[in-house]
Amino acid sequence: MFEYAPAPESRDIVDIKPSYGLFIDGEFVDADTSFKTVNPASEEVLAEIAEANAADVDRAVAAARRAYDGVWSRLPAAERAKYLFRIARLIQERSRELAVLESIDNGKPIRESRDVDVPLVAAHFFYYAGWADKLEYAVRDPRPLGVAGQVIPWNFPLLMLAWKIAPALACGNTVVLKPAETTPLTALAFAEICRQADLPPGVVNIVTGAGETGRALVEHDGIDKVAFTGSTEVGRQIARAVAGTGRRLTLELGGKAANVIFDDAPLDQAVEGIVNGIFFNQGHVCCAGSRLLVQESVAEELLDRLKTRMATLRVGDPLDKNTDVGAINSAAQLEKIRMLSEVGEKEGATRWSPPCELPDRGFWFAPTVFTGVAQSHRIAREEIFGPVLSVLTFRTPQEAVEKANNTPYGLSAGVWTEKGSRILWMAERLRAGVVWANTFNKFDPASPFGGYKESGFGREGGRHGLEAYLR
Ligand code: NAD
Repeated sequence: MFEYAPAPESRDIVDIKPSYGLFIDGEFVDADTSFKTVNPASEEVLAEIAEANAADVDRAVAAARRAYDGVWSRLPAAERAKYLFRIARLIQERSRELAVLESIDNGKPIRESRDVDVPLVAAHFFYYAGWADKLEYAVRDPRPLGVAGQVIPWNFPLLMLAWKIAPALACGNTVVLKPAETTPLTALAFAEICRQADLPPGVVNIVTGAGETGRALVEHDGIDKVAFTGSTEVGRQIARAVAGTGRRLTLELGGKAANVIFDDAPLDQAVEGIVNGIFFNQGHVCCAGSRLLVQESVAEELLDRLKTRMATLRVGDPLDKNTDVGAINSAAQLEKIRMLSEVGEKEGATRWSPPCELPDRGFWFAPTVFTGVAQSHRIAREEIFGPVLSVLTFRTPQEAVEKANNTPYGLSAGVWTEKGSRILWMAERLRAGVVWANTFNKFDPASPFGGYKESGFGREGGRHGLEAYLR
């Protein structure tokens, strides 16, 4: 049996305190109540985290307002840039520690947090630092909005923080950010980095807590902008709460992306793209390629190769550098994945997973593929947000487009074919914010990201990401 044994040298480089306060006005402060954050790979309690109530949120918003009026909005743009460059460099310096902390709190493989998440976090701060004193080239009159209230999910805790905080600060706003309740640790490490960077107090405030804390923040009268990434359900509630308040809103919500494989695609490369598309970060990815659409003539061959590849995936200890698929982030998320997978079987799809021994403790789910999936099946329609792939087939490009677009979501899509003309033909017709060609899950701070339909509105990243934080 697999014994959960964290690699000691990795675990030792992080110093997790027994308890953490809220980060308000440049200080860590206590709250009346607290909650626990847990290592999803072992169910070990990592730390006690302060839970912000409405009065705490109020203090944080007031601190952000003072910092906005008193310092940040008056600072020459080049000075703001210096702080952002300093933060970016500190993230690089502390990258190993941040990667280990992220993997422990979230469950994602260290290879991903070390090679993808943390480098992209630094890259976002470098990228937006570069924009701060060049905003006049992006817009005629670059004036910030004021105080931004930002709420983020647990799947890319530090990266979602960077997507929100870097452009907001570059444009001259101050922020109050609420991380997800299952992954607060890297946001709190980021708070320490803000102190290390001598960022003026109140420019960044971190309020930890669950949905109630988030609600207190997005409904607070003192904020000028709400930025939310999370589920479509909560996004809808927030849109209703913000409607009519004059507050600006961006929503980055769920997805059910189609990864479309044509018969002329290089199949081995496509298999790597499919695996990366759905098993990267245990499938806890809003733009995950969770619906595989494969052209009928190559379906059998492709599935054979995919299953062979899936059998090589190593599921287990997130801190082991050889791990491909880590722990599911929480018991609740594991339950949701199990439930939808059972529904898939009941509705008549065929379920397959490679033989794979899962650890006794912690939250785990084996990489899974469903074949014989119909468009009406719930596993073809609902976001599972786990390592579960639903396979459908098509005959013609028209049919591929119809099936790919047959979803309430529209965040991303992938196309695999040797024909450049077909890539362009598909990209024009796919109703998705991002279309990847012969690759999947590729990110760059310079590329805007965001959805169509129920995947939300507004764009993050690139020059477009600045518009969300300017008047
Ligand atoms: P969630 O909506 O349950 O929670 C997201 C955040 O909102 C958390 O911090 C949570 O505490 C907070 N929250 C909950 N209720 C709230 C309320 N009423 N008011 C204000 N805040 C509230 O989502 P989740 O389970 O944490 O994340 C998974 C979802 O996020 C998936 O649907 C995924 O697709 C989506 N997601 C989207 C993107 C994107 O860029 N489009 C990126 C990552 C995740």
